Amino acid sequence: MNPAAGVLHDGAGYHVNEEADFVIVGAGAAGATMARWLTAAGRSVVVVEEGPPARPATGDGRAALQQLYRDSGTTTARGPDPLLLLQGRTVGGSSFVSGSVHTALPEATWRAWAERDAAWKARVPWEKLEAARARVDNELAVNKTPRSLLSDDAEALARAMPGQAMATWRGAPGCVGNGRCFLGCPQAGKSSVNVTFLPLAMQRGARIYSRCAVEGIDWQGKRAVGIHGLFDNGYRFKARANVAVILAAGAVQTPGILLRAGVKGIGANWSCHPTVIVSGLWNKPLNYAGATQGVDVQLGHEHGIDIETLRLPPAWRRLTVPGWGTALAERVEQLDQVLTWQVRLRPEAVGRVRLGKLTRKPQVEFALTAADRRALSTGIALAAEGMLRAGALVAWPQVGGWSEEIGSLKQVHELMNRPIQPGALHLIASQLFGGVPTDARGQVVGTERLIVADASALPGAAGVPPLSLIHAAASVVADYWADARP
Ligand SMILES: Cc1cc2nc3c(=O)[nH]c(=O)nc-3n(C[C@H](O)[C@H](O)[C@H](O)COP(=O)(O)OP(=O)(O)OC[C@H]3O[C@@H](n4cnc5c(N)ncnc54)[C@H](O)[C@@H]3O)c2cc1C
Ligand code: SF4
Repeated sequence: MNPAAGVLHDGAGYHVNEEADFVIVGAGAAGATMARWLTAAGRSVVVVEEGPPARPATGDGRAALQQLYRDSGTTTARGPDPLLLLQGRTVGGSSFVSGSVHTALPEATWRAWAERDAAWKARVPWEKLEAARARVDNELAVNKTPRSLLSDDAEALARAMPGQAMATWRGAPGCVGNGRCFLGCPQAGKSSVNVTFLPLAMQRGARIYSRCAVEGIDWQGKRAVGIHGLFDNGYRFKARANVAVILAAGAVQTPGILLRAGVKGIGANWSCHPTVIVSGLWNKPLNYAGATQGVDVQLGHEHGIDIETLRLPPAWRRLTVPGWGTALAERVEQLDQVLTWQVRLRPEAVGRVRLGKLTRKPQVEFALTAADRRALSTGIALAAEGMLRAGALVAWPQVGGWSEEIGSLKQVHELMNRPIQPGALHLIASQLFGGVPTDARGQVVGTERLIVADASALPGAAGVPPLSLIHAAASVVADYWADARP
């Protein structure tokens, strides 16, 4: 059967057999961008998404993670430090649960990538990338976070590091500052692709299927001619792609699909932005009203790190409070005084995606280098210093082997270059990159008509939040294929 165009089909009650010019796997940031621009060029598009339609989570505990995140938010990478990999799994992908911070890729990073990756240079020339970014930013209403949307802890970071702290740029024209971005905006206030690019693509006839996991690629020789998958209720899905198959399942699942298909050269050069959360205790209850990520300090050029305010839902904020027994109970009593900032690293380390031998699921391996540990040590100490300077009573660095609580600048300076031992950190990464080599038109090297448009086609860790880059790079690749013949 081939149901109506321009519709989001939430699952299916029968086996589905589809056909379109382009079949896109994944309705996240990159998949939606491709769908938006290819349908604008008059091409027919089918999008297949494993997760359910985008619905804001009602609570903020485990159920919310189950509704919106892959593996209920418990996916981890293998390596010396526990590294949680957060991946949205819903129509809208990680864009639906993002803070919608849109930061331009620095030209220096583009140049460094272009020097070592000729295909990147040819595929996404700087001028095209910038033009696409302007076009996308305009459509997603990207703007500087206004003062009225800065919560108390964002104001604290701005005070602590004047001259370095900047309001974030966000695509969130309807934001009212309720800080639930990571749970899906209840106001539809941010420009996640479920309310922007996907509806535009559907207006132009795109058909989207949710709750359908793509399991494999169909081939004619080296040429990808379609995909097959399974709805969560057991019905089968098959789609023929007359022009090309586009993989946009994210920087862990896309390499996984390709590894399962036996494509060679997949999984190397994988990276992410490992992040640690530093929390602290304020001297009075904080007014949290404001954007999820309001203020950012970019120390990348100097240290390879960023410090960013991070307004967490209460159940998540509770996890950043250290200690046990009575001490923990007393601290949790003061949860409305706890502020949370994140220290984000642009790592030197490079990881890899492999297939689990038994599960056949993608498994990431990642280990920080000694230089990465030093950079994080500096970042955590700077964040703790900033908190104390801004007025916090104590900062909690959350590093094994360090003091649980930092209450003085003297203590901070002792920590500044203190090594962090392997295993002493709890890392989280939601910004993931690489794993798939692609050619000058975005095709997977060694294949034909199999395009990768998502973060797995990026040459490395961007050093800045990547949504803006992912949208812009995908729209450049969409332009190449807009006129392609079957
Ligand atoms: C909590 C969180 C907050 C973030 N905040 C920001 C931010 O403020 N600014 C920023 O720049 N970046 C942010 N990011 C990162 C950003 O959202 C991602 O880098 C970006 O969305 C990645 O785009 P993508 O297209 O590669 O993958 P995604 O947007 O993750 O989309 C991949 C989609 O493919 C689907 N999929 C996977 N496998 C299959 C399969 N086999 N079959 C069918 N569908 C499949 C997934 O369910 C998912 O919906 C955040 C990420 C998270 C998780
Ligand atoms: S801060 Fe709240 S209102 Fe603003 S975009 Fe995020 S969830 Fe929506």
